[in-house]
Amino acid sequence: FVVLGIETSCDDTAAAVVRSNGEILSQVVSSQYIIHGIYLIDKNIVQFKADLLTKYGGVAPKMAEEAHSQVIDQVVQEALDNAYMTEKDLTAVAVTIGPGLSLCLRVLPWNAQQFFLHYAVGVQKARQIAGSFKLPIIGIHHMEAHALVARLTEKDLQFPFIALLISGGHNLLILARDLGQYVQLGTTIDDAIGEAYDKTAKWLGLDLRRSGGPAIEELAKEGNAKSVSFSVPMKQHKDCNFSYAGLKTQVRLAIESKKIDANIPISSASKEDRLARADIAAAFQRIAVLHLEERCERAIQWALKMEPSIRHLIISGGVASNHYVRSRLDMVVKKNGLQLVCPPPRLCTDNGVMVAWTGIEHFRMGRYDPPPPAEEPENFVYDLRPRWPLGEEYAEGRSDAR
Ligand code: ATP
Ligand code: FE
Repeated sequence: FVVLGIETSCDDTAAAVVRSNGEILSQVVSSQYIIHGIYLIDKNIVQFKADLLTKYGGVAPKMAEEAHSQVIDQVVQEALDNAYMTEKDLTAVAVTIGPGLSLCLRVLPWNAQQFFLHYAVGVQKARQIAGSFKLPIIGIHHMEAHALVARLTEKDLQFPFIALLISGGHNLLILARDLGQYVQLGTTIDDAIGEAYDKTAKWLGLDLRRSGGPAIEELAKEGNAKSVSFSVPMKQHKDCNFSYAGLKTQVRLAIESKKIDANIPISSASKEDRLARADIAAAFQRIAVLHLEERCERAIQWALKMEPSIRHLIISGGVASNHYVRSRLDMVVKKNGLQLVCPPPRLCTDNGVMVAWTGIEHFRMGRYDPPPPAEEPENFVYDLRPRWPLGEEYAEGRSDAR
């Protein structure tokens, strides 16, 4: 059978068509880039809305929603065309219904209603198609999709396994016992690693037309990671939780003390200035990843106590496309007797394939909703879940257990 997956939970509008045997028939992603609060969509600057800016103190969420609604039809159509299919050839539609918009949550924490609009763009589109063509619909958890896409790329990956999900808004260590059965071993107590990459890139004056992560990864290759000393977060906490706010502060202070000016783009920096920035990028990356390594090592020990048959640790989410992250974690995981699985970079960042695939996994088990009505009743309330934990918290990981 064949499933269309739609993803609009954050700043990418994505769609893909995937066959139940794991064959990717098509995948389309349209990215939005933020520069100083202005969204660039397909490299065209969207008109800056001064009224919204003054009203809400930020335009990002509104812009994200507009961007999604501008491109959603085209993205879905392209996904169908590239798969040489029409809606009639589909078996079901899968769509992300939460959690999401960490980006927007940061901008507008006091106006929760706003966030619902963004993924409603995708959900609306999915329900429209499902309604018109009488297709079952599957609501997808964004982070579950990041994790399960590894089962598409690694056919050998059986439950139970451990998942480290690292992206712009999440930093999760999960024990996946079975489909839909997850135990949260650790999460971030403040920021996610991707957010730390993005901020560091911004403060170092890197080109933000791409996201910050790849820019730091590139620059770090030129630097000496040991030339600046940062401390590894949460050393004293013997759990699997993460913290990146403190490291961000350390980075900011180092940048200030070296008098690096983010307003001078790295492309016009002097040789010396460039090297100073590269050193900070490398040092930041080393410590940010060392934190992941330490937590993964403990998570493996915890998880094996519950599920001794675990053979794999998978990494996914945007930051998992980083080659340094991959090679460091590969060492740790191997040292602890497991195998590391990482989906290709394109499937680590937000994409429609992971949503379609997670839809396939659930559909197989009979977990889906019947086709919605062809026309939604007025005042229809969408099932959207901005906050949606993936699984139960592991007892040893809870703060009251420590
Ligand atoms: P979430 O999944 O938590 O809702 P998101 O959907 O915005 O967040 P993803 O697309 O999964 O996130 O990941 C985006 C994040 O990954 C950004 O913070 C980006 O900087 C980071 N990232 C992407 N590529 C790399 C890389 N090569 N190195 C480090 N970080 C990277
Ligand atoms: Fe994501």
